[in-house]
Amino acid sequence: MSLATGAHEFAFFGLTEQQASVRATTARFAAEVLAPAYKRNEMAGEIPLDIRRRMGALGLIGAEFPEVYGGLGVDHVTAGVIAEAIAEGDFNAAYVPLLASLNGAILARHASPDLAADILPQIVSGEKLIALALTEPNGGSDAAALVLKATREGDDYLLDGEKTSISLADQADWAVVFARTGTVESRAHGISAFLVDLDQPGITRTRFADLGQHAIGRGSLFFDRVRVPATRMLGKEGAGFVQVMQGFDFSRALIGLQCLAVARVSLAETWAYIQERKAFGKPLSDNQGITFPLAEAETMVTAARLLCYRTLAAKDAGLPHTREAAMCKWWAPKLAFEVVQSCLLMHGHSGWCVDLPFEQRLRDVLGLQIGDGTAQIMKLIIAREALKAARR
Ligand SMILES: Cc1cc2nc3c(=O)[nH]c(=O)nc-3n(C[C@H](O)[C@H](O)[C@H](O)COP(=O)(O)OP(=O)(O)OC[C@H]3O[C@@H](n4cnc5c(N)ncnc54)[C@H](O)[C@@H]3O)c2cc1C
Repeated sequence: MSLATGAHEFAFFGLTEQQASVRATTARFAAEVLAPAYKRNEMAGEIPLDIRRRMGALGLIGAEFPEVYGGLGVDHVTAGVIAEAIAEGDFNAAYVPLLASLNGAILARHASPDLAADILPQIVSGEKLIALALTEPNGGSDAAALVLKATREGDDYLLDGEKTSISLADQADWAVVFARTGTVESRAHGISAFLVDLDQPGITRTRFADLGQHAIGRGSLFFDRVRVPATRMLGKEGAGFVQVMQGFDFSRALIGLQCLAVARVSLAETWAYIQERKAFGKPLSDNQGITFPLAEAETMVTAARLLCYRTLAAKDAGLPHTREAAMCKWWAPKLAFEVVQSCLLMHGHSGWCVDLPFEQRLRDVLGLQIGDGTAQIMKLIIAREALKAARR
C-alpha cells in the first residue's frame, strides 16, 4: 500500500511548495508514529501527551494561527493538508488540531489579547486540550435553544446547567462554553461564549460508552454555580452563537478531509490486497465486480476531496463558503463510511477481525455523521442558501 506523499499528488489542487513540504512532513509522521498507535490509543482512551507534544513541535496543531500564538501562520488549505495527513495515520488524532482550530479561532478573534496569548500557545504546543461545549440534553440540532444559564454577579458570571455529548469532556483542560445570558425567546442573540477552566470547583464530568472514537471520548459536563470571571467572556454578550457558527464553516471542511483520509487509506490497502488475494485460481482484481465498486469509490472520494479543498480555498480568498462547508459535512463522512465498509468486505473474513483497522475506522468515522451537525441540518443550510440565491 502506498499513498503518494509528494507534490505531484496535489498538482490539481495547485499546492505550493510549502504546502507540499508540510504534507510530506505530516504524512511521514502519520505513517511512522500515528498509524502504529491507532489501535493502542483507542485501548488507552486518549491521544497520549507525548504524541500531542510531537504534533505540536512539528507545527501540526493550529498551524493557521499567527506565530505569536505558536502557529505557523499558514493558510486554511494548508491546515486542511495537515488534518488530512494526520487522519491517514490516526483518524482520532486529527481531532486534536480540529478542536484547537475551532476553539482557537474564537479565542484569537474574541478573547482579550492577554488571554489569547496565554491560552493559545499551550493548545498549539499540544500541552493542553480544549473542548467545545454547545450541545445540551434537550437537543443539539437546534443549538440556539440552549438553556445553560450564565448569571452576572459582580465581576463574574455564574454558570448553571448541563452540556452533553462533548468531545474530550473528561480530558480537556478548558472548554469554550456557550451559555444563555439573554432570554430563551431571544434564541441565538441571547447566547454568549466563555472560556472555562474545567478543573475548577462546581464542574463534574462523565464519559459515555461510545461505539467509536474512544481515544477522544465524549461525555457530559455539569455546572453547579461555576464562577467565571467576566474577562473570560469571549466577544460581546449575546454574540457567542454567531462566533461558533462562523467557525463551523472551517471545521466542516476539515472534518470532510479527516473522514476522506480514512477512505483513501482503506482504498489504497484494498487495491493492493485484491491483487495478492486469489479466488477461483485468479487474483480478485481480475473481477470487475471487485474493481468497479472501487473505481466508483475513487471517483467520489476524489470529487468530495476537491470540494473540501475548494471550500478551504474559498475561505482563504475571503469568499462565502457556508454552502460548500455544509456539503462537505454531509457528504464526506457518509461516503467515507460506505467506502470503508466496502473495503472491509473485500478483505473477506480477515476484514471483520480487529487485527485489521477497518472495523475501527468504520466505528470512528461513523460518529462524524452526527458530530458537528447531522446530514439533515447540513441539507437545511444548503437549501436555505440555494433558496436565498434563487430569490436574488
Ligand atoms: C462523535 C460526536 C462528537 C460530538 N462532539 C461534540 C462536541 O465536541 N461539542 C458539542 O457541543 N456537541 C458535540 N456533539 C453533539 C452533536 O453536535 C449533536 O449530537 C448533533 O448536533 C445532533 O444533535 P442531537 O444529538 O441532539 O440530535 P437531535 O437534534 O435530537 O436530532 C435527532 C435527529 O433528528 C434530525 N433532525 C433534527 N431536526 C431536524 C429537522 N429540522 N429536519 C430534519 N431532521 C431533523 C437530526 O438530523 C437527527 O438525525 C457530538 C456528537 C457526536 C456523535
